[in-house]
Amino acid sequence: MAAAKKCCVPNCGLANEILHKFPNPNKDMDRFRTWIYNVGGDILGKDNEYIYKYRRVCHLHFESKYHTRNKILSIDAVPTLRLSRPQLPTLNAERYIRECLEPHVIPYADYVGPNFLFMHDNARAHAAGIVREYLQDVNITVMDWPARSPDMNPIDHMWDELKRRVRARQPVAQTMQELKTAIEEEWEMIPQNFIERLINSMPNRMRAVVDAHGGNTRY
Ligand SMILES: [Zn+2]
Repeated sequence: MAAAKKCCVPNCGLANEILHKFPNPNKDMDRFRTWIYNVGGDILGKDNEYIYKYRRVCHLHFESKYHTRNKILSIDAVPTLRLSRPQLPTLNAERYIRECLEPHVIPYADYVGPNFLFMHDNARAHAAGIVREYLQDVNITVMDWPARSPDMNPIDHMWDELKRRVRARQPVAQTMQELKTAIEEEWEMIPQNFIERLINSMPNRMRAVVDAHGGNTRY
């Protein structure tokens, strides 16, 4: 998913709220700076134009005094990191190692053998220093991933297919447990050749990203 489609406030990442652009750094550098310092996190290391183009802040981080009609912000609006809903547990680096890499990736890597090349995008938990060190320690080679992280990972198409299937079900799941069951059943029913097609598309995806110099592709 492109960064511009979700909130860049650390631990927020909402995509369904209204998302606001940063102030234009070429027109109002002072406000732009106030925004980036208030938001913090990884954007502090990013280029101004990049932030303006690709990063967004969701509506929940603005106090009501900055709201005008139709969820448009007033001209002097600055984000505060107030979140008006409980935060979901995030996948942090420790959990990523303990719950994903150790039990699922490491044993599989040995099975594949010396040509195993591990792929993950630049999500915060993946890119953390302790994760990089851990993967080095266990001799796992990680595939280069462009900074802008275009939708190169075929798993995103699996998630889309899974969502389509779960949404099409009747009756609609009413409880968390029903939803969980629905997801597991639909996952099992995705045909193996759909997965194989995605895997086989990987060399073409990679070539397209290289040709686009790490930018967006038709995938
Ligand atoms: Zn947000």
